[in-house]
Amino acid sequence: MAPPPAIRRRAQARERIPKIGFVSLGCPKALVDSERILTSLRSEGYEVAPTYEQADLVVVNTCGFIDAAVDESLQTIGEALERNGKVIVTGCLGARPQRILERHPRVLKVTGPQTYAEVMSAVHQHLPPRHDPFLDLVPPQGVRLTPRHYAYLKISEGCNNKCSFCIIPALRGRLASRPIDEVLREAERLAAAGVRELLVISQDTSAYGADIRYAPASWRDEEYRTRFIDLARGLGTLGIWVRLHYVYPYPHVDEVIPLMAQRRVLPYLDIPFQHGSPSVLKRMRRPAHSEDVLRRIAGWRKQCPDLTLRSTFIVGFPGETPGEFEELLEWLEEAQLDRVGCFKYSPVEGAPANALGGHVPAEVQEERYARFMERAAAISARRLARRVGTRMRVLVDAVGDDGAVARSEADAPEIDGVVRIAAADGLRPGDWAEVEITASDTYDLHARIDAAAVATPRR
Ligand code: SF4
Repeated sequence: MAPPPAIRRRAQARERIPKIGFVSLGCPKALVDSERILTSLRSEGYEVAPTYEQADLVVVNTCGFIDAAVDESLQTIGEALERNGKVIVTGCLGARPQRILERHPRVLKVTGPQTYAEVMSAVHQHLPPRHDPFLDLVPPQGVRLTPRHYAYLKISEGCNNKCSFCIIPALRGRLASRPIDEVLREAERLAAAGVRELLVISQDTSAYGADIRYAPASWRDEEYRTRFIDLARGLGTLGIWVRLHYVYPYPHVDEVIPLMAQRRVLPYLDIPFQHGSPSVLKRMRRPAHSEDVLRRIAGWRKQCPDLTLRSTFIVGFPGETPGEFEELLEWLEEAQLDRVGCFKYSPVEGAPANALGGHVPAEVQEERYARFMERAAAISARRLARRVGTRMRVLVDAVGDDGAVARSEADAPEIDGVVRIAAADGLRPGDWAEVEITASDTYDLHARIDAAAVATPRR
């Protein structure tokens, strides 16, 4: 029997829908760019294909941060060309089009980071959109690549700092902050669409608004300025988790700690310290490197004892002496950071640090990395062990046959540890759960549902 005409029409429409393959490489900031492009594509009636072969055209959003990321990007472009043939490239590596076109001259178009309109016009040129009112529905929060219950909120592009190992300012340009009312309205929309956790990202969150002289704006009949503390204050009224990433320890960051103590925003700070030796930090040209950071950390923890500090470090930076590395270990021991990531220095084409003398041999880098991570792991294990026996509220990310994987206030998605809940019957991703911590290991906690608390989903 033939299907009814309405279904036939929809099936025919589906057959005609242009399909885009999308590969998103790089950091959360690139992910946000990908989400914006995908939202535009979906709103214009394009469908996202799960494989290169099923796509009519492929967009690759590249990363150009370190040489390994450049290689990965070039390799991915090659793979997309081989398996599909029609490829548009965007993202950080796109800021250096020659690098791409030398190796892959068949690429249809290369655009730089945040060039949404250019990407869309290249897509239109090579694969015109076909509108179908039955199928072009975009969810209210847009198309996101993260699970439905958390979302990244990008507050600015670019960076005014001049860290010697980094070429992001050259790739992405100088700081360009989004006006605070625009950011708060986006956050409000996301919260209304069911997002329970916002992850605030930028290259330098604490510098937010400096480029537009902390421009004033109003939101929900209140006056705000485009600056870090007002952003935290505004987001803190939404009643969802707000997590601050890429904050530098400038003195004004102290103002946010009381908001954390009151749980208006999560007591969590992601500060990329990069090193603990003042002389290395000076060679790295890090912002706020001369601040007395250890004293500040102690002050923050006094005001907000549950504060979680996450950071990343680079070992084997050019000229790093054994003494400077020991200083880093001592600094780490004193700082007692909760979450720590570490990279071995690798030269990035175009970075001023390449011109510094005293490159550290690979085997020395390897040995320092192992020692650093061993020390960081021991601190992490000790700090997590203190949580055993406590009760806390967690946000469920995934549920399987052997329980649920959730996160506490102290865990950012993808980069930190998790809370593993045994016997999680009835829980679904995006639920809140009240749990009791039963055990800990190096990076994760183990828990059971807190029988004493009713696991009622709360905002
Ligand atoms: S703060 Fe430093 S490392 Fe971060 S993007 Fe700016 S220049 Fe690069």
